[in-house]
Amino acid sequence: MAEHTFYYDGSLCIACRSCQVACKQWNYLPGEKTEFFAKEGGYQNPSDLSPITWTLMKFHEQETQGEVEWLFRRHHCFHCTQAACIEVCPVEPKAMIRHPEFGTVHVDQNLCIGCGACVEACPYGVPHVNYELEKSRKCTGCYDRVANGMLPACAKTCPTKAIRYGDKGELYALAKQRVKELRQAGWPDANVYGPDQLDGLHSIYVLPVKLETYELPAKVEWEYGRLEPIKRKAQEKYAAVLRERGVGLASVAGGGISGALVASGVVAAGLKKLADRKAARAREEAEEQS
Ligand code: SF4
Ligand code: SF4
Ligand code: SF4
Repeated sequence: MAEHTFYYDGSLCIACRSCQVACKQWNYLPGEKTEFFAKEGGYQNPSDLSPITWTLMKFHEQETQGEVEWLFRRHHCFHCTQAACIEVCPVEPKAMIRHPEFGTVHVDQNLCIGCGACVEACPYGVPHVNYELEKSRKCTGCYDRVANGMLPACAKTCPTKAIRYGDKGELYALAKQRVKELRQAGWPDANVYGPDQLDGLHSIYVLPVKLETYELPAKVEWEYGRLEPIKRKAQEKYAAVLRERGVGLASVAGGGISGALVASGVVAAGLKKLADRKAARAREEAEEQS
């Protein structure tokens, strides 16, 4: 199967937040306690991603000829090709992993030790640690749906087709074409975000106005100097966790951390139940569609 990408067209989005709801529903994520005007001067709610909010509609305001314009951007993991979160993850094998077929990035909940290195390293503020579970939580790319022939929940639910998901090459080409159309239709600053960042993101945006309006960095550098200390600190935490759990480094070297953590009883029975429930739901949906 070819590499995949998410595609988001800000000129089609109506900020209905169906994607936010669908993500919570599919991933069994509870609601947040929110406040009106949580973000000063805006309707963005909740104010940021969190361990229980993996996709969020961001609201940006700009004044054009005395009128306030609302501009939207769907925020979730960019599934970067150069992924700082994978680079710094200290667990062996990595708890932060790239899906071998789709190219998206997700956390193996069995392996994660909740050290928070990925949180510190991510240039987009995406992962968040659930300190109760000691696990990093973020968008999974819905690999559990895609592997069962379904669209990611957010893409499936989007009523205007602002969110799409599919072949990376095709959607990169579509984004280029759409920017051309928008420019011809009177949006001279329309641009595409993603193909030029971190060796090509697996989540790209078509944006009708300038990048700065969306508080997105045009240049995201792969800064080794910044990642190295995060990595070192995380490796120390990992060694401490192994000592705490009574797992010798020799057993890690022999059986890998997955064997070692399983032996130390870290894998929760609840995770299996969750996987079973999801597989059942996936089968039901596939039947509905056939
Ligand atoms: S791909 Fe899945 S996990 Fe990621 S934002 Fe969409 S619904 Fe949520
Ligand atoms: S956006 Fe952050 S969490 Fe997602 S792949 Fe990139 S570095 Fe990792
Ligand atoms: S919290 Fe630590 S162990 Fe878990 S995915 Fe992030 S870097 Fe890896």
